[in-house]
Amino acid sequence: MKNDIVVLGGGPGGYHAAIRGAQLGAKVTLVEKEKMGGTCLNWGCIPTKALYKSAEIIHTLKHIDEYGISVDDYSVDVSKIQERKQNIIKQLEAGIKSLMKANKIEVVYGAGQLKDKNTVLVKGDGKEQEIEGKNIIIATGSKVLIPPIAGVDTEGILKSKELLNFKAIPKCMTVIGGGVVGIEFASIFNALGSKVTVITLFPTILERMDTDITKRLAASLKKKGIAIHTGTSAEKIEKKDGRFAVFAKGKKGEIVLESEQVLLAAGRKPSFDGLSLENIGIEYDEQGIKVNHQYETNVAGVYAIGDVTGKTMLAHTASHHGITAAENIMGVKSKIDHDIVPNCVFTFPELAGVGLTEQEAKDSNIHYNTSKFMFGANGKALTLGEAEGLVKIISDDKDEIIGVHIMGPHASDLIHEGTLAISAKLKVEDIANTIHAHPTLSETFAETVLGLKGEAIHAVPSRKKG
Ligand code: FAD
Repeated sequence: MKNDIVVLGGGPGGYHAAIRGAQLGAKVTLVEKEKMGGTCLNWGCIPTKALYKSAEIIHTLKHIDEYGISVDDYSVDVSKIQERKQNIIKQLEAGIKSLMKANKIEVVYGAGQLKDKNTVLVKGDGKEQEIEGKNIIIATGSKVLIPPIAGVDTEGILKSKELLNFKAIPKCMTVIGGGVVGIEFASIFNALGSKVTVITLFPTILERMDTDITKRLAASLKKKGIAIHTGTSAEKIEKKDGRFAVFAKGKKGEIVLESEQVLLAAGRKPSFDGLSLENIGIEYDEQGIKVNHQYETNVAGVYAIGDVTGKTMLAHTASHHGITAAENIMGVKSKIDHDIVPNCVFTFPELAGVGLTEQEAKDSNIHYNTSKFMFGANGKALTLGEAEGLVKIISDDKDEIIGVHIMGPHASDLIHEGTLAISAKLKVEDIANTIHAHPTLSETFAETVLGLKGEAIHAVPSRKKG
C-alpha cells in the first residue's frame, strides 16, 4: 500500500497529524477539499485576530489622550483592514504548504469519501481518484449550528465566515449567541463603531468560563455600549426594507431587536458531510465521531481528530489530537489530558481560563482555596494603561493549582504559566518560590499564588477574625 497514513482535512488537526506522521517516517497523503489551514486559518482564529488587532487600535485611539497624545481625527478603511487580514492568511497558508513539501507530504485537493477502511475516494477538479492507506485520519472539522428559529434562513443573515469579509461597518448588529465567537465579533464591531446587541439562551455569556470573570466582562462590555440579553431565546427573524427584526423571549418578556445585520453564532457541530461514515461502520452521533484515548474509532486503523470528534472545539486541541493519533499509528504511545486545555477569548480586555472553574471545584466536593489579584495593583498593567481585570487561582487541599482564570491584558499569553502549573501538578510553593521579573504582567500570577497563603505583597491583608 502506497501510504501509511491518509489524512482527510488540512485544518490544524489534519496538518499537524500529517507533519508528525512524516517526522516519524510515515508516507502521508493529505486530502483537502477547500483550503490548507482549514477553518482556523481561513475563517476562524487567524482572521478574527487580525480584525481584533485593528479593533484594538481603535479602542486605544478612543482614549489616546490619556497617553499624552492627541489625534485630531482618524478614519477606518475597511478595504485595508481586509487586505491586511488576507495577507496574513496568505503568508500562513504558504508556510503550511511549504511545510507539506519539506516533509514530503503529498497534498491532493478534492472532497474525500470513505470507500472502505483503507481507501478514500477523492472527487475534485472534475476527476475521481482512489487513495489507499494503511491508516486513515478523519480531520474534517465542524460547521455552524443553525438554531431552530423561524426565518433563520432569511437572505442576508450572516454566519461568522461571511461576516469576516464585511465591506462596510454596520450601524447596528444583533448577535445571536453569547459564546466565544459571538462575544469576539460583538467586541470587534463595538470597537469599530457598530451598536451591538447580544442575545444568549444561557444565564451568562461565555457560560463555560468562571463566573467571577464572565460577570465582570459582561459589566465591562455593557459599559462600552454592548447590550446583552441573557436567558433570552430568539424565536423569529423577519426582514423588512433591508432591516432585520429579531423577536426574542426572555426574562423581560418579549423583545424585538431591530438591526442592519444579524450574526448567527449559536455554536458549531461536527461535520461529516459526504464522508459516508456508514460505508465502513464508524460509530458517530450528532455530537461527533466516537474515539478512544488514541483517537482511534471503533474501526481499527481509522482515526478521528479535532472538531469532528466534538471534543473541546479549539485549534490547539485539534493539533494535539493530530499529533497523538499520528504517534499512536507510528508506535509511539501518547495521549493528551483534556482537562488541561487553555481557552482564550479575545475581547477588551482578553479572557483566558484553564483547569477547573470555581463552580466545577464546588460541584466535585473537594476542599479548595481561591485567591484573586487585581491588575490595578500591577505596575506594568498601569504603564500599559490596561489595568482592568484580575487573576483568579484555585488550589486544592494538597496545595496544587487546579484552576486559573484571567481577565486582563495579554490574558491569552499569561494563561500558559497556569497551564504548565496544572499539567505539571505544581504546588503553591513551587510558584511562590519562582522569581517573576519586574515590572511584568506575570507578577500578577505570582501575587495571586502568594494570596493563596495570605502572603500577597501588593494586596491589603484580609481582616483576621477575633
Ligand atoms: P478545521 O479547521 O475545520 O479543518 C477541517 C478541514 O477539513 C477544512 O479545511 C475542510 O475544508 C476539510 N474537509 C472537510 N470535509 C472534507 C472532505 N470530505 N474531504 C477533504 N477535506 C475536507 N479556535 C481556537 O483555538 N482559537 C481561536 O481563536 C478560534 N477562533 C475561532 C473563530 C471562529 C470565527 C471560528 C468559526 C472558530 C474559531 N476557533 C478558534 C475554532 C477553530 O477554528 C477550530 O477548533 C479548528 O479549526 C478545528 O480544527 P480541525 O482541524 O478539527 O478542523
